[in-house]
Amino acid sequence: MAPARRRRSLAASERRYDLSVPLAAEDVVPLCLAEVTFPAGHPLAGQDGEVFAFLVRHPRTPVLFETGSGRGNAELDDYYRVRHHSLEEALAAAGIGLSEVRAVVNSHLHFDHAGNNRLFPGVPIYVQSAEQDAARQPGYTVPEWVDFPDAEYAVIDGESRVASGVRVMPTKGHTAGHQSLVVETNGGTIVLAGQAIYSKAEFEFIRRTGGAPTEDPLPDPQAYLNSALSLIDMRPRRIYFSHDRAFWAIEEVGVVGEPGG
Ligand SMILES: [Zn+2]
Repeated sequence: MAPARRRRSLAASERRYDLSVPLAAEDVVPLCLAEVTFPAGHPLAGQDGEVFAFLVRHPRTPVLFETGSGRGNAELDDYYRVRHHSLEEALAAAGIGLSEVRAVVNSHLHFDHAGNNRLFPGVPIYVQSAEQDAARQPGYTVPEWVDFPDAEYAVIDGESRVASGVRVMPTKGHTAGHQSLVVETNGGTIVLAGQAIYSKAEFEFIRRTGGAPTEDPLPDPQAYLNSALSLIDMRPRRIYFSHDRAFWAIEEVGVVGEPGG
C-alpha cells in the first residue's frame, strides 16, 4: 500500500477526531489473516475456517484485537493447511501502519489469536492473568510467539479500559482467561467476541434457544454459555467473531427502534 494513502487516511481521521464524537461502526475493521482446513480427527474435520483480527481505528489509540496465526511453524501450517495473509498489508489497507498500533488485545493466547504479537514490541498487550498463567503450560500455545524480546503485557483481572469507548470484558469458557472487546460507537455497541462465540450461526442459536451449542466440545460449557449470554445481554448493534467471515448486525435482522436499526 502506498504511504501516501496511509497519510491521507490518518489525516482524515484526525480531522474528524473530537472527544464528544464517538467512533463510527466503520472504525471497526475486520482483517482476514488466514484460512485453514480442519484436519481428520478434528471436530470440524474437512471444513474450512478463517482467522480474523480487528482494527479499532481509534484516532488517538488505534487498537488491534487479535494478531492471528504466526508464521514459521511448519507443523501447524501443514496440520491446518494454513493460508496466511499479511497483517501489515491488511493494516495498510485499513489506513494505518504496524508502528501506529498503540494497543493490542488478545482474546486468548492460542497460536491463532496471538501468533503475531511479536510484531508489537513495546506496545501494551492486554491479557487476563488467568490466560497468561495458562499460556505458560506446555502444549498450550507456541511459547516464542507469546514471549518475545520487549513484550509488554498489560496483565489484567476482569474489565479494563483500553481507550475512550473501548474496553475489555472477561468471557471465560473457551479458555479460563478468555476476553472480548466492547467498542462504543455512535450507532451503538459493537462487540468483538473473539472465540467466546464461535460463529454467527452459533450466536443466532444461543440467542434463539438460550442453550449451549453442541457441535464442538467445549472446555467449560457452562462458563462458555454464561459468557455468550452476557454478550447477548449487551444488545450489541454488531458482533464479530474471530473465526467467521460473517458477522451479526441488528440492521440485518430488521429490528426497528434499536440503535442502528
Ligand atoms: Zn482458542
